Amino acid sequence: MSKPVVTSINPATGEVLQTFTSLGSAEVDAAIKQADDAFQSWRLTSFTQRSRLMHKAADILDARKEAFARTMTMEMGKPLSEAVAEVEKCALVCRHYADHAEDYLRDEVIETEASQSFVRNLPLGPVLAVMPWNFPFWQVFRFAAPTLMAGNVGLLKHASNVWGSALNIAKVFSEAGFPEGCFQTLLIGSKAVEGVIRDARVKAVTLTGSGPAGRSVASIAGEELKPSLLELGGSDAFIVMPSADLDKAVETAVKSRTRNNGQSCIAAKRFLVHTDIYDAFTQAFVARIEALHVGDPLLEETDIGPLATETIRDELAGQVEATLKGGAKRISKLAQLPDKGWWFAPQVLAEAPDGTPGAEQEMFGPVANLWRVDSLDDAIARANRCDFGLGSAIFTQEAADISHAVRDIEAGSTFVNALVASDPRLPFGGVKHSGYGRELAADGIRAFVNRKTVSIS
Ligand code: NAP
Repeated sequence: MSKPVVTSINPATGEVLQTFTSLGSAEVDAAIKQADDAFQSWRLTSFTQRSRLMHKAADILDARKEAFARTMTMEMGKPLSEAVAEVEKCALVCRHYADHAEDYLRDEVIETEASQSFVRNLPLGPVLAVMPWNFPFWQVFRFAAPTLMAGNVGLLKHASNVWGSALNIAKVFSEAGFPEGCFQTLLIGSKAVEGVIRDARVKAVTLTGSGPAGRSVASIAGEELKPSLLELGGSDAFIVMPSADLDKAVETAVKSRTRNNGQSCIAAKRFLVHTDIYDAFTQAFVARIEALHVGDPLLEETDIGPLATETIRDELAGQVEATLKGGAKRISKLAQLPDKGWWFAPQVLAEAPDGTPGAEQEMFGPVANLWRVDSLDDAIARANRCDFGLGSAIFTQEAADISHAVRDIEAGSTFVNALVASDPRLPFGGVKHSGYGRELAADGIRAFVNRKTVSIS
């Protein structure tokens, strides 16, 4: 059977960047065998040795951040400065797990009648990671650093539009000195994922991506009785109460909605603003959105580049059109866009009625939906009237508002007076249709281990 050829396209220009040939089934089988073989010795290595190699990977990331960032920007369009910051954050997560893995996985002693009882965290084996294009480095490193430090080995199936970055990531680990087979990039399409999950040598799967991909991967893993972790989409609520620091709320709202060209799972997507502060917030927010510089993502002055693919651009256009048809109002002026490539003007929509995409779906691009609310109860009810539950934010100075929001917003995180962001020190994940399981911090490294109970009498 011929192997599919995958083409990567620069979304800023629509020009072909590179073509790749997918792996055939015999090559995938050989890669899984290599992973399984590597695991047999990697699982016996000391934390000191793993840590030394992981620090080396961090150093390589720091040393080559501009080159890695440039490939990301060319492949999926994020502003270069954000791509550089992404590589720096990957170095941070490598160092975090290099320094903390041993502590996170230390034996947990439990007092019983036996002479010794404890839980020991043992690695499982090869873990498959199915990853998205929006943070081509970060999504992979936040899986790979804990996975390798736990003594597992990694197989990466990256999104088909960022295979140059996928190969760069594999290079980081091999140049750092990780033994062959510890981390491999499989250039395969989504149809080949099922066979990898069903392979008996693969012990677990993690997916970051859309709901349909998550359902498919989780059901196959379920049939195979293998652990899975899902990091899916979000439509995060951003609540602004009358006591909020207005400037900070506006600045954070703009950043949250537009970073990564608006294509972040934890971007604030639904803004619920108390009526007492609504006019002031909206005026400042709209002015800031209209002032964003849309253009070549390689230039320093650019705030917003193109969307990653033509399909994504067309889907977002359809969602906006349906939301406007359904009764929402566009309350911002649209920027001029370059002729070629997959561009979308940042914009603000107000009062999208229930049932429209703006109210119920994830809009993966620089479109903010805004509603006027009468109370915190009203805001939380609207925040929860959505299938997703990834992040959430509230801007307020009132302690009562904070406890109410923390208790009642259905989300994997609530950030107060701050941007929702991932951080190696904090667990990350969602509830409802945003997925299950947690990455990062201690949870992230314990996601794929055998927590073996040992009792010695
Ligand atoms: P996607 O279409 O689901 O793709 C993600 C990955 O899954 C890609 O590698 C893709 O491969 C693969 N895939 C797609 N369908 C599959 C299937 N049926 N079986 C197996 N694999 C499949 O998502 P995306 O458009 O790349 O990413 C955007 C989505 O990811 C958004 O919803 C965003 O919110 C979410 N996301 C969530 C988080 C989080 O932490 N919760 C972080 C980032 C992004 P191909 O490219 O080859 O199709």
